[in-house]
Amino acid sequence: MDFSVPGSTADFRRELSATLSSPETRHLLNEVHRRADGMDGDVRDLYRHLGRAGILAPSWPIGHGGRGGDHTETVVLLEELIRHGVPQSLYYISVQIVGSLILQSGTADQKRDLLPRLASGDLTACILFTEPEHGSDLASVTTRAEREKDGPGWVLNGRKTYNLKSAYADIGLCAVRTDEGHSRYEGITLFVVPMDAPGVSVRGLASLADEQFHDIHLTDVRVGPEAVFGDPGGGWSLITRMFAAERSGLDYYVRARHWLELAAAGLAEQGPPTDDELVGLARHRARLDASRLLACRAMQNLAEDRPDISHASLAKWHCSETAQAISWWSLEALGSPVVDPDAAAVGPALEVAYREAPGMTISGGASEVLLDIITGARLLDDVETGSR
Ligand SMILES: Cc1cc2nc3c(=O)[nH]c(=O)nc-3n(C[C@H](O)[C@H](O)[C@H](O)COP(=O)(O)OP(=O)(O)OC[C@H]3O[C@@H](n4cnc5c(N)ncnc54)[C@H](O)[C@@H]3O)c2cc1C
Repeated sequence: MDFSVPGSTADFRRELSATLSSPETRHLLNEVHRRADGMDGDVRDLYRHLGRAGILAPSWPIGHGGRGGDHTETVVLLEELIRHGVPQSLYYISVQIVGSLILQSGTADQKRDLLPRLASGDLTACILFTEPEHGSDLASVTTRAEREKDGPGWVLNGRKTYNLKSAYADIGLCAVRTDEGHSRYEGITLFVVPMDAPGVSVRGLASLADEQFHDIHLTDVRVGPEAVFGDPGGGWSLITRMFAAERSGLDYYVRARHWLELAAAGLAEQGPPTDDELVGLARHRARLDASRLLACRAMQNLAEDRPDISHASLAKWHCSETAQAISWWSLEALGSPVVDPDAAAVGPALEVAYREAPGMTISGGASEVLLDIITGARLLDDVETGSR
C-alpha cells in the first residue's frame, strides 16, 4: 500500500479550506444551524453552493461531474468538511454511497442522468433498506414490488424505517423483494424511487442524536422500468457491493478525529495535562492512525474496482468503535462538554458527539455482524490456504 499523499491532494486541501471559509459558505452554514432548531438542518442550499465550486465528487471522472482525482482527495474533503463544521451525512449518503454504486454498477443512462446532479448537489439520495423487523438480516426484506398489470412499470408496497436524511432526499435507493427465488439472496431488486412519487410518505422519528430517523410508507407507489437498478432479482450482489462503499469507515474516522482534536484543545485550556490524559490522548491518536489507514485502504480497493466486503467490515468496525471510545473518553477526561467555537449554534460539540456515538456501532452494519463477516472471511482464507 502506498502511504504517500500526492501533491495535488495538498493543493486540493488548500482550495477546500478557502471555499469552506468563504463568507458565502459561512453564511449558508449559519442558515442551516439557524433553521435546524436543535436537529439536523436542511443542507441542500449549502451543498448546491459547494457543488458549484466543484468540490463534492473529487475522485469521480470529469465526464460524470467529478475532478478525476484519487481517493485521497475524498479523504481530505471529508476531513475539511468536518473541520469547518459542515454536516456531512446527506453528502456522504448521496455521493459516497449511492453515487459510488451508480458509478460502479449503473447503466449508461443512469450515470448520465444521476451522477452530474449528485456531484453538483442538485440531487440528493437516501438509503431505504432497513425495515421494522429486518435490519442486519436484509435478505429477509418484505417490501414488495410487482409488475404493473397495465404497463411496463412496477408497483411498490411496504415500509422502511430508521433511514437518515429521507426528508431532504430527492431519490431513495430501495431494497425490495420482487421474486421468491431459490435462496433468500435471490429475488431482491434495487429501485431508485423518487421521494415525491404519489404513495411515498415520510415521517420523522425521534433519535438520541441530532440526526433524525425516518419511517417511510410505500403504498401502491408506481415507478417506471428505468427505476430498476441492476437486474431484476439480482439486487443482493449490488447490496454487497454498496456495503463495501458504505463501510469504508471514512465518515466515522473523520468525526472521531475532530472530536479528539476538540478534546485535546479543551484539556490544554484547563492547564498542563496529567499523565493519564497524555496516555489517553496518545492511545486514541494511535487508534485513529490505524482507522485512517484502514479507511484509506477500503477507499483504494473501491477506486481499483476491487470491493472487499471483509476488509470494509474491518474498517467500519475499527473506525466506529474508535469513534465511540473517543467520544466517551473525551467527556470523561474533560468533565464537562466543550463548546466548539465554529459550531456554537449547534451547542456543545462533544455533548452532541456523546449522543451520536451509540448509533455509530449500529449504522451501516452492527459491530457484532461485522465481526461475524470478518471472522468468517478469515476462516475461509485459512481453509483455502491450508493453514487450518
Ligand atoms: C445512526 C443510524 C443510521 C442509520 N441509517 C440508515 C439508513 O440511512 N438507511 C437504512 O436503511 N437503515 C439505516 N439504519 C438502520 C441500520 O442499518 C440498522 O439499525 C442495522 O442494520 C441493525 O438492524 P436492526 O436495528 O434491525 O437490529 P437487528 O438486526 O435486530 O440487531 C439487533 C442486535 O442483534 C445483533 N445481531 C443481529 N444479527 C446478528 C448475527 N447474525 N450475529 C450476531 N449478532 C447479531 C446486532 O449486532 C444488534 O446488536 C441506521 C441506523 C442507525 C443507528
